[in-house]
Amino acid sequence: MSTRTYAEKRDFGKTPEPEAQETNQNPWESVFVVQEHHASHLHYDFRLSIDGVLKSWAVPKGVPTEPKVRRLAVETEDHPLAYADFEGDIPEGEYGAGKVIIWDKGSFELLERTEKKIVVALHGTKMKGDFALVRFAGKEKDNRNWLIMKVS
Ligand code: MN
Repeated sequence: MSTRTYAEKRDFGKTPEPEAQETNQNPWESVFVVQEHHASHLHYDFRLSIDGVLKSWAVPKGVPTEPKVRRLAVETEDHPLAYADFEGDIPEGEYGAGKVIIWDKGSFELLERTEKKIVVALHGTKMKGDFALVRFAGKEKDNRNWLIMKVS
């Protein structure tokens, strides 16, 4: 796992986003964050610390907080752990330009993880309970589309 793609997309001389793995966060502590991102299209970024990075998904319509709501979650590049604390304004002209606000954050437990499915127990303020990410069934090899839902 690497955050090379993350770094390649950004100019750290211009964006206030964290450059690398600089963090006070214990890499063995499981943290999730949801960031409200006012980019060209408002979306919510859902991130889970797994394998020493933040596995990340962009959720265009917002993360579900109630069961039976399924939302598209598009897998994006792994982010450094320090990103879980990031809030700020990404300047005009930079990748993901716009305001980033932490919408929810907390610890989680990883309950199940396969290539096609991730189940976590989230202990956030807004997201509480068990949530599943399920990869779309599809033929494409590089299928980055998932569904996120609350399961209990
Ligand atoms: Mn985003």
